[in-house]
Amino acid sequence: MTTLFERIIQGEIPCEKVFENENIFAFKDIAPKAPVHILIVPKKVIPDLQSVNLEDLALMGEIVQVAQRLAREFDIEEDGYRLICNNGPFAGQTIYHLHFHLLGGAPLGRMAG
Ligand code: 5GP
Repeated sequence: MTTLFERIIQGEIPCEKVFENENIFAFKDIAPKAPVHILIVPKKVIPDLQSVNLEDLALMGEIVQVAQRLAREFDIEEDGYRLICNNGPFAGQTIYHLHFHLLGGAPLGRMAG
């Protein structure tokens, strides 16, 4: 089944895109939990973090580089930011296409709960 994020990447559903290259697509979250809330999504269809395998490790590194670049561009590098991946129902994952939340722009509190 095609996920919502595949449809966003393919341009079928509009979004506020902030980055794209051949492997990665990033856009603003529709319901931001912080002043900066960006979703960083690999174009490769991987349902969740638990499904990442050895052949995806370069892609994971590229995602971190994109997060660093966006942190600079959105001016949250110095104050700090959080990069989150929710895996599975207890973590609150709602869309089963791997994605990382880049959050910043205000104090984010402590971890979970
Ligand atoms: P998850 O809960 O799976 O970790 O994260 C899914 C995220 O996708 C949520 O933060 C939610 O606000 C965001 N989201 C859901 N639907 C849309 C949409 O249509 N457009 C955008 N830009 N974000 C969405």
